[in-house]
Amino acid sequence: MLKQRLQAVRKRIARACEKCGRDPATVRLVAVSKTMPAARVEAAITAGAAILGENYIQEAREKASALSRHAVSWHFIGHLQTNKAKYAVRIFDLIHTVDRLKLARELDKQAARIGKIQPVLVQVNISGEQSKSGIAPQETEKLLRAVSALEHIQVRGLMTMPPFFDQPEKARPFFKSLYRLSRRMAETGIAGVGMDELSMGMSGDFEVAIEEGATLVRVGTAIFGERQ
Ligand SMILES: *Cc1c(COP(=O)(O)O)cnc(C)c1O
Repeated sequence: MLKQRLQAVRKRIARACEKCGRDPATVRLVAVSKTMPAARVEAAITAGAAILGENYIQEAREKASALSRHAVSWHFIGHLQTNKAKYAVRIFDLIHTVDRLKLARELDKQAARIGKIQPVLVQVNISGEQSKSGIAPQETEKLLRAVSALEHIQVRGLMTMPPFFDQPEKARPFFKSLYRLSRRMAETGIAGVGMDELSMGMSGDFEVAIEEGATLVRVGTAIFGERQ
């Protein structure tokens, strides 16, 4: 069941790439395993999931430790409290949700402690909704400039979560804006800041996100089924 679902998602990714003339190898699938027990995550790994996305530090610590024999990559996609940075740098190959300098500084400090350069994305609140985390688009350059001075974290791109719509087409303008912002940021050429990754698109809208340039799609429900 899980295997079929995962294959179906991969097919949808391939079809979306074909539609817009992109190489499917440029889109990576993050299987969002939040709230799923370790056994189910392991089933997903066995079925071929290579990147797992988690939202909660304690839960991720438990699962990453239980599944440490598997050579998979863990990505953090939730809201990160500054006091959890020390755990985050130990577990995650990519943190998608850096949205403030204070958090970036703490990640830098904790990464330095363990001799790591931590790859991160900057989360942008592209819709400006009050309820959403992420930095305002017009503040992004300033944050990137400040973060570029930190030696133990490395920005790889941007991430966003548009408002929820039941029609994926409605998310398209938000994906377009994030793409445009990332191109503008790339043009500023801030030293040490990469703009190759765009994390956008979830179960309901990842095809549209791919058409608009996503390189990382975060898919939970379409792979694991509804969360409890
Ligand atoms: C839960 C979550 C997802 C996955 O959502 P689905 O609709 O289940 O695919 C993606 N991104 C973030 C940030 C999430 O919290």
